[in-house]
Amino acid sequence: MTVPFTESEERLALRESVKALASKYGYAYMAEQVRKGEKTTDLWNDFGKHGFIGVNIPEEYGGGGGGMGDLAAVLEEAGAAGSPLLMMVVSPAIVGSILTRCGTDEQKQKWLPGIASGETVAAFAITEPDAGSNSHQITTTARRDGDEWVLNGRKVYISGLDEADVVLIVSRTEDAKTGKLKPALFLVPTDAPGLEFQHIPMDFVAPEKQFSVFIDDVRVPADALVGDEDGGLWQLFAGLNPERIMGAAMTCGQARYALDKAVEYAKTRKVWKDVIGTHQAIAHPLAKVKIELEQARLLMQKAAALYDAGDDFTAGEYANMAKYAGGEIACNALDVAVQTHGGNGLASEYGLGNQLVAARLGRIAPVSREMILNFVAMHSLGLPKSY
Ligand SMILES: Cc1cc2nc3c(=O)[nH]c(=O)nc-3n(C[C@H](O)[C@H](O)[C@H](O)COP(=O)(O)OP(=O)(O)OC[C@H]3O[C@@H](n4cnc5c(N)ncnc54)[C@H](O)[C@@H]3O)c2cc1C
Repeated sequence: MTVPFTESEERLALRESVKALASKYGYAYMAEQVRKGEKTTDLWNDFGKHGFIGVNIPEEYGGGGGGMGDLAAVLEEAGAAGSPLLMMVVSPAIVGSILTRCGTDEQKQKWLPGIASGETVAAFAITEPDAGSNSHQITTTARRDGDEWVLNGRKVYISGLDEADVVLIVSRTEDAKTGKLKPALFLVPTDAPGLEFQHIPMDFVAPEKQFSVFIDDVRVPADALVGDEDGGLWQLFAGLNPERIMGAAMTCGQARYALDKAVEYAKTRKVWKDVIGTHQAIAHPLAKVKIELEQARLLMQKAAALYDAGDDFTAGEYANMAKYAGGEIACNALDVAVQTHGGNGLASEYGLGNQLVAARLGRIAPVSREMILNFVAMHSLGLPKSY
């Protein structure tokens, strides 16, 4: 298989179109919406109208017929313009990919056109309070009762439930023969009786919010099950690998935004004879960020190209490494950008202080830095399993 090092003309044109639109909004718009306690719905709808949200969804379901490389490029450009959309990581990337690859024709007809246009927002819930990174320990279960499934459990840190129409819940069903629990995915409308959610206040401000979710005897029809009950983990990873690639895209975009601002400042701020960018103590950290950012972007593009080529196994390895590299570079770039700005780095006007905290998310979610290092140590290096 050939994985090219440069992006196609179409991909580059897509980047330019996204950049042009996202720049009309930018960080000032995001900050203002947050200040007013409002969502970034205008931006989301505009992205939907331009076909950016559903660029990876097949054309027959109203999408752009592209791949994860295209969707990741969209989110990276939005982030670089200062206006990333967190729910793009979830709705078209995780849920859209799982439905496209594992859904029935009816499920695809029902959900994909809305997800592609952005009119339907889908959330995703795997994390549980007592399982955390160890998702083999999740206890949310689904029991068959006649024509319905009955779900019970608890989830935590689920993004965007207040704006989502439906949530894909990772649950477990009992194997009739062995009694063992196996993963199963259910699409549950967010207004389903028995599904409650509670906002978790966070120490960084963003338009998207996180929630604790309580699932008490939630009944869904038989066709709410997505994929084969005995299909195994690959169905879940059909969404988790895109999530990691999009996590990398979002953090690379964030890092580009921070680097651009810092370079601009270093070229203009003058407190001695020359601008501060003359001092290597300012210039070298910026140059280092540039190099590490390009490394992270290459990993992200490689992971997406592998996923789009259908090589799930290798895509998994690169999606993890890309997510790690993206998380690191977002944190480092924000740190360097704040330092370059001196006191202004923490002034709200410059829009960097809040992002310094927000960038930490890239080291924690959707899979933590430590769990990626565990994975790479074991799968890429053949070291003993540590978890
Ligand atoms: C803003 C935000 C949005 C989120 N959105 C969603 C969402 O939409 N849907 C969803 O399902 N989840 C979501 N999450 C949850 C996220 O995926 C988890 O927070 C993440 O997977 C880590 O799990 P945890 O918080 O339980 O940490 P823990 O698993 O408790 O880990 C705590 C620390 O211990 C380390 N650790 C754990 N096990 C090991 C080990 N074996 N070896 C080495 N170190 C280890 C971790 O790396 C971490 O540093 C979100 C989280 C945040 C903060």
